[in-house]
Amino acid sequence: MGDCSRPHRLRTLDCTGSGGRCPLIEGGLCVGDLRVLVAEDDRDLAEFARTVLSRRPGVTVMVATDGREALAAVDRGDVDVLFTDIEMPGLTGLDLVGQARRRDPGLPVVMMTAHASVDYAITALRSQVDEFLVKPVSAAQFRSCLDAMTTLRHDRDAAGARPTVLAIGAHPDDVEIGVGGLLAAHRAAGDPVVILTLSRGARGGTADDRQHESLAAAELLGARLFLEDLEDTRISAADPTVSIVERVTREIDPSIVYTHSVHDRHQDHRAVHQAVSVATRRVATLACFQSPSATVDFQPNRFVPIDGFTDTKLALLECFGSQTGIRDYLEPDFVLATARYWSRFGGGRSCEPLEVLRDTSGLISPGRSGRTTAAHEHSPTATATERMTA
Ligand SMILES: [Zn+2]
Repeated sequence: MGDCSRPHRLRTLDCTGSGGRCPLIEGGLCVGDLRVLVAEDDRDLAEFARTVLSRRPGVTVMVATDGREALAAVDRGDVDVLFTDIEMPGLTGLDLVGQARRRDPGLPVVMMTAHASVDYAITALRSQVDEFLVKPVSAAQFRSCLDAMTTLRHDRDAAGARPTVLAIGAHPDDVEIGVGGLLAAHRAAGDPVVILTLSRGARGGTADDRQHESLAAAELLGARLFLEDLEDTRISAADPTVSIVERVTREIDPSIVYTHSVHDRHQDHRAVHQAVSVATRRVATLACFQSPSATVDFQPNRFVPIDGFTDTKLALLECFGSQTGIRDYLEPDFVLATARYWSRFGGGRSCEPLEVLRDTSGLISPGRSGRTTAAHEHSPTATATERMTA
């Protein structure tokens, strides 16, 4: 922990200002604006819990003395972490946990039990409760339990809110050249990344070599690879290309697609652009990257800073060893100079340019409601992308 680059809804302060580090990190935890509900009918214990837990910076503690009151707070969306007694008037702790979980599946729940009920509680609730505290509960136990639950909330929100990214290229190395830095930034933010390569690039080397190179690059990136076998230089803008892209899109349900620009001399690149435009028409965001064969008509309207990810981009391109000796656009100084050039529009020291054709996701411009928007607004990738629009 300590790295606050992952999104979560606990934090309402801007903590993307310093390279994704959270200014509120304390003891390795990001602790901005966490709402804790203590559901406990023993008023002394409830007050003790409130006093101890609310000493943590950024933590607000509410107390409910019966189960229905507690459930109403969960219903209103006011609760990030729940501490509850096992026996409550109105609604037992067991019922409360079950109903609260249905309303907010990611809610971390701590069950407080008397010693005698521990066995029963653990058996009944093992699958529903994240932690048990046996009364009497010490201040130190409350504190360490709160830290663990904060991490849990953070991780669950991050896991539930991440967009899946699909990058589609005609040939091996196309997407790494176009958006290698951006894909690395997505991975660092925890976004699942899938690469679809439509041909094995037999014209540029042996298909076998290029297949192994594609796999090595995907592995380095931590991406899943779909490698198709359309004929190099003869890729169609219609079927089977459209059907392949539709099949992969259905399977992985991406919210962001990156592909070739139509402003490109290579017919395969233009064909893939056209097929992808049709096949991903229901995907929220479609953005086109620059290839070495892009024409001067390539007109990017977004510039994504990739500072911190240029080394990964170079390492990805290194994977394509059969090409690096014969393609000058794969030389590191060329790649870095290109990224450096685009930074004049996007800030930082290195950028990747995009022609954004469609963006209704809320990832690049705010728009989604609820938790997803909050999460995306805190994603470093989204922030980087948002910055480009300025
Ligand atoms: Zn290509």
